[in-house]
Amino acid sequence: MCSPLKYNYPLMFKIITKSPRSKARVGKLKTPHGTIDTPAFMPVGTQGAVKAVTQQQVKDIGAQIILCNTYHLYLRPGIKVIKKAGGLHKFIGWDGPILTDSGGYQVFSLAKLRKISDEGVTFNSHIDGSKHLLTPEKVVEIQSIFGSDIMMPLDECVAYPSTKADAERSVIRTTKWAKRSKEMRDETLRLRSGQGCEMGGELFGIVQGGMFKDLRKRSAEEIRELDFPGYGIGGLSVGEPKGLMLEMLEVSADNLEYEKPKHLMGVGFPEDIVEAVKYGIDLFDCVIPTRLARHGAFLTGKGKQIIRNSKFASDFTPLDKDCDCYACKNFTRAYIRHLFIAKEILPLTLMTIHNLRFIMRLMEELREKIKNGLI
Ligand SMILES: [Zn+2]
Repeated sequence: MCSPLKYNYPLMFKIITKSPRSKARVGKLKTPHGTIDTPAFMPVGTQGAVKAVTQQQVKDIGAQIILCNTYHLYLRPGIKVIKKAGGLHKFIGWDGPILTDSGGYQVFSLAKLRKISDEGVTFNSHIDGSKHLLTPEKVVEIQSIFGSDIMMPLDECVAYPSTKADAERSVIRTTKWAKRSKEMRDETLRLRSGQGCEMGGELFGIVQGGMFKDLRKRSAEEIRELDFPGYGIGGLSVGEPKGLMLEMLEVSADNLEYEKPKHLMGVGFPEDIVEAVKYGIDLFDCVIPTRLARHGAFLTGKGKQIIRNSKFASDFTPLDKDCDCYACKNFTRAYIRHLFIAKEILPLTLMTIHNLRFIMRLMEELREKIKNGLI
């Protein structure tokens, strides 16, 4: 059983304006659940919810796409429940585009007793210790059941720092897994098409290569060869110095087709976003804005501020005077600080709304600047 055919076009990415000064571009990315203005930031909804805010609030902030974590949703509530609910969009009550990651990064960072082989990754759940095997095919199957608009293939991310031999092994494996993922995706499409079913989203390819320029180039060339409709650039912002990250980003992006959409995975500090768009990056995701908010930090044009700071006790100005978010239009730093110290729940919501809106405004400004040839 499947949803009837509604969308039969592939993911479409159109570059609207190219910067004359850098590789930055403004584009539109069309997905089965809506069009995204790029460069775009995707709030992270790890377990199917952006922490502390409702789906309507996420929409009101200006987000056009969210990212959900395959690893977490696969373990809990599990694919049976999500399938029964009619897919991830219906289950979580979000009708906009969803990008799901492959789960690989979480397997490497959260799961216990993992064993990697060419077949896939065997690991024990961090929740109940149960044993699982994730293969490239299984990961595509899970995301197809979710109905994700953009799917990511299983890849191997190496730790930082890593030896060149380890990084090379991960490049070889990531390419092998990418091939198998694409075959699985093509087979799913063939079956769906034959049954008159909805085509669903698209599968991106992922570039790895650690912190080695030649390996980054090799990985990008091998993944490009497989002709995915878009790409994720993985394994960056894992503790390396910023200059090194940008060097690796440049080699990775330059060896992929300029015309295709690129996602810099897990990178989302405002200063990193500003730099990365110059290398032609279109999609960003990061837990930082939402995590900072829950820990009492809010973003402003002058940097990060800590709401507990006593200097805000009688500060009756908004979190950021230039911000148009619900929190800034209606409440003061003094009030939000009071709620935070009193351990109320509301300030976590208000600061999450503000921090996400801060990033959304940054993206809007960047798109304007690129259109005006300023970046
Ligand atoms: Zn605000």
